[in-house]
Amino acid sequence: MDAATETSGTQRVFPEPSQRVPVAYDADVVVVGAGPGGFAAALQAARMGARVVLVERFDMPGGVHTSGLQGHAGQGVGGIHTELMQRFAREGYIYTVTQDRLPNWAGNPLSHYERHHAPDAPFTRMSFNPEGAGSVMAAMLQEAGVTALYGTSFVDAVVKDGIGDNRIEAIIVENASGRQAVTGKIFIEGSGTAQLAARAGVPFVSGGGGQPATAEWDGVERPIPGGLLWIMTGVDFQTVARHQRDAKDPRLEKLIAEAAAGGDIPPGLYRPRMGGKGVYGDLYIGHPTIDMSPMQADGTFIFWQNVPYEWALHMDERADDEARAKRALRFFIDAEVKFLKKYVPGFANAFLSNIGRFVGIRDGRHPVGEYVFSIEDARQGRRFRDAISKPMTKTFYWDEYAKYTFDVPFRSFLPKRIDNLILTGASMSFTYDTIFMVMRNFPWCTQTGEIAGFAAARCVEKKILAKELEWKEPYF
Ligand SMILES: Cc1cc2nc3c(=O)[nH]c(=O)nc-3n(C[C@H](O)[C@H](O)[C@H](O)COP(=O)(O)OP(=O)(O)OC[C@H]3O[C@@H](n4cnc5c(N)ncnc54)[C@H](O)[C@@H]3O)c2cc1C
Repeated sequence: MDAATETSGTQRVFPEPSQRVPVAYDADVVVVGAGPGGFAAALQAARMGARVVLVERFDMPGGVHTSGLQGHAGQGVGGIHTELMQRFAREGYIYTVTQDRLPNWAGNPLSHYERHHAPDAPFTRMSFNPEGAGSVMAAMLQEAGVTALYGTSFVDAVVKDGIGDNRIEAIIVENASGRQAVTGKIFIEGSGTAQLAARAGVPFVSGGGGQPATAEWDGVERPIPGGLLWIMTGVDFQTVARHQRDAKDPRLEKLIAEAAAGGDIPPGLYRPRMGGKGVYGDLYIGHPTIDMSPMQADGTFIFWQNVPYEWALHMDERADDEARAKRALRFFIDAEVKFLKKYVPGFANAFLSNIGRFVGIRDGRHPVGEYVFSIEDARQGRRFRDAISKPMTKTFYWDEYAKYTFDVPFRSFLPKRIDNLILTGASMSFTYDTIFMVMRNFPWCTQTGEIAGFAAARCVEKKILAKELEWKEPYF
């Protein structure tokens, strides 16, 4: 054993030398992560006059929707989200496709969003260019005076345990300057995987949750899989559609079988849907054929490559799981590109143009807050005195749930144990079975960020902690 290592139980440990870390910034509001939640929080707090430092490990804001390539656009739902949609459009970064522009798309089994439509039904699919959108969002932060530290990773939280209250005093970050501290009054969780909350000692529930013990459930808790998104350019989709029709091969099963027989499909690339296992239906569970959506320009499509559900990976908590997912998904994407080009008519001249910078996590840790919002709150249509918005009506992708209206309470933004931390986006205090509810999507993650930024700025003005803020009326 190396002289410097020790043992703690069965685990070898290495004592990290304690360091005196320089304080690089002193802010009113410190935001970790610049996804839709962190971005909107930083923007709103700065617009209300707070001194804001925003820490982002990649080169631009936007999270899953820019660095992760998602780019899903739609009508604005109010506030900063509407402003974003309008500004993306004004600066030429929105691409809109309808039935006239892309015939044979609605009802096509290869279509990610429109496959359940009636064949040839009218549709409107909007997306934004992720790189352009990231630049627009960066400009907006700059205009508002946010100190945005790109290429900077959050690594730890320094918590002061007090009598009656516990506060984060500083976060520790790493960047080109080494290890630095950023101090602040109010901290905002925008990492998408509740990293700040977890490091600050907030209790949390792992992704996957305790799924109901149905007859078909095998007892393994599997999070809804995360995914790596990628883009191909130069696709002649009408030629693909002609093959689907003429060869009676709507799901490309014949071509997939041919490629498998030729040794060109690795095991695990195409997997059957596992509808009924767990509580998620068949959404992202299985990858039986190509899963794509038009994006950016005619002939360009985004593709989904999800982590195999059956692997039960917890990418946000276990480094081995994260590395396994990253290795596997790049390998699958490479194999899928080669299959498409070699076997599928319409892809011969297409090329792989981008792969997302990270595997997005849909169902990571769920911090436990002052109120834990659950599926029952939607089913029962519960109302809360600290509702953050007018009642929401759209819940899940599934029609069964579309009928419910419900409130989300501000207490779901406030984690247990820490009094000056506000949650946003995918890191709020929600149970895992709300994963496909409307407030987990890009528009509402932007809204929860805006609300968190508003609350943080108010706390700074009033010189109070987040838990002392009285929430009196809906923001939206
Ligand atoms: C694969 C996938 C597909 C999706 N598809 C859709 C869709 O079609 N439509 C839709 O509306 N929603 C979709 N969603 C949901 C939506 O994207 C997320 O709920 C939303 O992006 C969450 O926002 P966020 O700000 O909480 O986190 P994120 O978007 O995950 O952003 C977190 C940010 O924090 C940064 N960060 C993380 N760790 C650190 C660290 N240690 N230091 C510094 N920075 C850090 C990241 O780089 C990132 O920029 C999808 C999600 C995934 C994962």
